[in-house]
Amino acid sequence: MTEEGAFSEQIVDGKNKSNVRCQFCNSLMLKAQEGTYSEEEVDVPLMMQKQDRTADSLSSETLKNFWLVKDMMTFENIGFSNTLDGRKFLVCADCERGPVGYHDLSTRHCFLALKRVVHKDT
Ligand SMILES: [Zn+2]
Repeated sequence: MTEEGAFSEQIVDGKNKSNVRCQFCNSLMLKAQEGTYSEEEVDVPLMMQKQDRTADSLSSETLKNFWLVKDMMTFENIGFSNTLDGRKFLVCADCERGPVGYHDLSTRHCFLALKRVVHKDT
């Protein structure tokens, strides 16, 4: 099984088939076809409700499946959290839960973790 196995239904021609939304409040983050499937190995802090803990006290997990968005203006709604190791974490613009991915400060590319969002058109 390849890395995209669990997500293969969401990937059509290397793009996101459906709209990408916040799993908590359904806020629309990214429209269908706007993200490019990308495999990276990045440690991303575990989801939390509020940004009330310092970065170095967080537990993290390695995420591998991302939607690459090269221009942050492509997002419908996205918020930014703290910066860690050259990355700024992405959170939901409406409920501020996350991180749902990260923004690489050197390339300015954004990566939205498939595992941290939901894929549905409405
Ligand atoms: Zn939300």
